[in-house]
Amino acid sequence: MTPRDPAVDGELDVPQATPSQPQRRAPHGGRIEVICGSMFSGKTEELIRRVKRALYGRQKIQAFKPRIDDRYDATRIVSHGSIAIDAVPVSSSESLMKRVEDRTQVVAIDEAQFFDRGIVEVCNALADQGRRVILAGLDQDYLGRPFPPMPDLMAIAEDVTKVRAVCTVCGGTASRSQRIIQEGSTVLVGGAECYEARCRACFRTRDVRAGEA
Ligand code: ADP
Ligand code: MG
Ligand code: ZN
Repeated sequence: MTPRDPAVDGELDVPQATPSQPQRRAPHGGRIEVICGSMFSGKTEELIRRVKRALYGRQKIQAFKPRIDDRYDATRIVSHGSIAIDAVPVSSSESLMKRVEDRTQVVAIDEAQFFDRGIVEVCNALADQGRRVILAGLDQDYLGRPFPPMPDLMAIAEDVTKVRAVCTVCGGTASRSQRIIQEGSTVLVGGAECYEARCRACFRTRDVRAGEA
């Protein structure tokens, strides 16, 4: 005997619209998207790809980056593969919020892990205003620990994408950022001279921990 399908058999208790019910509001464009992963995983490339698509859609976009990250270019977001978009460097989440213009529909933020905790509320407020917020950032620090405020941003986001690099040791899929110089501070801005992408098996924390202050 084939099982009965309640939907087909009309047994589902689906609420029916009645004339007394208020009409549904138009869909609200506000949302938070998080792109996260290790260094060299293509977070910035993916952020730029989404921004470029929004530009094709003639959306008004503003891109921001933390002032701390001046690795490549002070007023641009640049990937390791050298693609770039213009961005405003800001020193705090408060300053970011102040710079968002009324007509901006898409707010792109790179290196979100370098922002203060206030970025969580700022992103929520921007999305509540109906804007699309796209953030890229490291999910883990150089010891493999969750990198605040990324865990909170991932929790409140509508959409989370984990991108991954190639492990420089075994060629597998990398999810961690191996620090290859002796330096114990969590924030050490650098590129290939300081970090390597590694998979879980090839990732080592012992050597760098030894140098920790
Ligand atoms: P992220 O923002 O995540 O640090 P980017 O978007 O700036 O990464 O750069 C990604 C690019 O880095 C890749 O397209 C590739 O050209 C380059 N790259 C360098 N090393 C690696 C690696 N180990 N794995 C993958 N891509 C790498
Ligand atoms: Mg990047
Ligand atoms: Zn590996």
